[in-house]
Order: sequence, then structure tokens, then C-alpha cells
Amino acid sequence: MINRREFLQTVAATAVLPTLARQAPANEWGSPVFDLHFHLRPQPAGNLAHLDGAGVAKANLLTRGGALDQVKAVQAAAPGRFTWFNSYDVTKPDAEQVLTQAVKNGAQGFGEMKFHVAADGPELRRMYALAADLRVPILIHFQEVDHTPNEGTWSTGFAKVFESVLKAYPKTTFIGHADAFWANISADYHNEAVYPAGPVKRGGVTDKWLADYANLLGDMSAVSGSNAMARDPEFTADFLKRHQDKLLFGSDCSCRDGHGAGYDNPAAPRMAGKCVARETLTVVKRSASPVIFQKIVWGNAHKLLRIPA
Ligand SMILES: [Zn+2]
Ligand SMILES: [Zn+2]
Repeated sequence: MINRREFLQTVAATAVLPTLARQAPANEWGSPVFDLHFHLRPQPAGNLAHLDGAGVAKANLLTRGGALDQVKAVQAAAPGRFTWFNSYDVTKPDAEQVLTQAVKNGAQGFGEMKFHVAADGPELRRMYALAADLRVPILIHFQEVDHTPNEGTWSTGFAKVFESVLKAYPKTTFIGHADAFWANISADYHNEAVYPAGPVKRGGVTDKWLADYANLLGDMSAVSGSNAMARDPEFTADFLKRHQDKLLFGSDCSCRDGHGAGYDNPAAPRMAGKCVARETLTVVKRSASPVIFQKIVWGNAHKLLRIPA
């Protein structure tokens, strides 16, 4: 016969296990993880499937245009696990009005900003000014090389012009992301490859500007961020140490389950069937001390968004 204490333990285990079994182990990565770059999925359950599958505690939903109802539904389904950023076509005359309203509705940043305009053009400049006024960060996709024919480029001119933007908008918090941002950790990059491989040549503008400008942060999401951290382990360890307070983990992963199901990026065949979140977390964990790892995957995002960790 079992005694009362054993009986209660059995009841508790039975009640709790079915819930836990659907989720990843609570501390799979040795630190809770915040995913800064998570595109809102149409079904609330689809959002949670990726977080739970990849061992991610919280995520920042990236949305475009009117998404408030969907954001609220996801937040209600998993209280405390989702913040959000909003984006809107910067070439439209009502962009400032729409994004101001989104912030009033609870958006904590602009992003991702991914439009076929120049990084220092008038469309984005007014967004940089508005982000400073509203005291929210702005997350920008920089890309100069097509992944597929005629895909086009986004926020162009990063390596040439963005230092002047950083100087002109000292009160704006910029979060850099995507191919051109990450390829330019290397000083020998000239827009020749989508995801450059091999050793990093020290002195790239992204590395330099992260050191020189307090208003620039780096979003490590997507294959661009993952690739940049995987290509030169010696560089990566130093880079993560140097910029430990300015880097933010993000996934930008489109796999279904947080384990790579359905992931297919034509520009990066080696990533087929893999989860970008898992790939990046693995390389960052391997390359950083536990304290630095925790800042990058958790602490820095909470500081940025002024939310309790
Ligand atoms: Zn992007
Ligand atoms: Zn994934």
C-alpha cells in the first residue's frame, strides 16, 4: 500500500506530466531564451509550437500593418510570453500615423522595416526620427544581394551610408539585421555573396560601429546572423565578448516545430530541415561564457524593452 505522501506525489505527477511533455525542457539552453525576431504566425498555436519546440521562453512578434487583434489573441493564449513590434510601408504618407497608433496600442518597437528604399533616404529618415520621438527601437533589414532573381534589395547602402545615419540620429536606437549587416563584420566584404564563408577579416564596419555608436545594436537572427557567428570561431568568441551588451538573439525561423520541420531557404541549402533558432543558440552557447550567453539570449532584450527579466 502506498502512504498518503506517495499518493499525493503520484497525483501531482499525473496532473503535471501531460502539460510538460508537450514542451521543451524548461532550461534546455542553460538560460531562458528571448527571441527578438519572430514573425507572427496566423494561428496562435503555430506561434507557441515554435517557441516550445526550440526551447524559447518569450518572443517578440514582428507584424506589419493592422495586426492588433492577432497579437492580442496570441498574448492571451500565452500571457507574459509575447511582446510585439509593428511595421508599415514607409513609402505611404500615413506611415507615421499608423506606427504612432501601434505604439499607443502597445507595440514596443518598429520592425521589421524591410522595404525597397535607401537606408539614408527620406522614407526611412522620418521613421528614424519618429522612433526617437516615441522612444522605441527600430529594427532594420539590410540586404544588397538577391537571394532569387529580381528579389530586390532592402534598406540599401548600409556599408557606405549608415555611419552618417548613426551620427544624425543619436537618440534613435537602431537594431541592425540581415545579410548586409552581418556580412560587414568582415572588412573584405563587397556585396559579392549572400552569406560569405571563411575567416573574418578584422575591421568590418558592423564590428566597428557596434563599438563606436551607443545607438546601434545587433539582431543575430536569420541565416545571416547564424552564418556570421559560425564562420570563424576565434573571431566569434572575441566578437561576443566585445559586444556582449549590444547583441540580441533572434531566430527569424520559419520552421514549424522548433526542430526544423519545413525549413527551406534556397540561398542556404545547408540549413534545409534545420531550425535557425537552434543553430544560432548552439553556436552562441559554444562561443560565449554562461554570463555572456545569458545577456545575449535574455537579459539584453529585457533591458531594451524595459520589461522585467
Ligand atoms: Zn529580415
Ligand atoms: Zn525553427
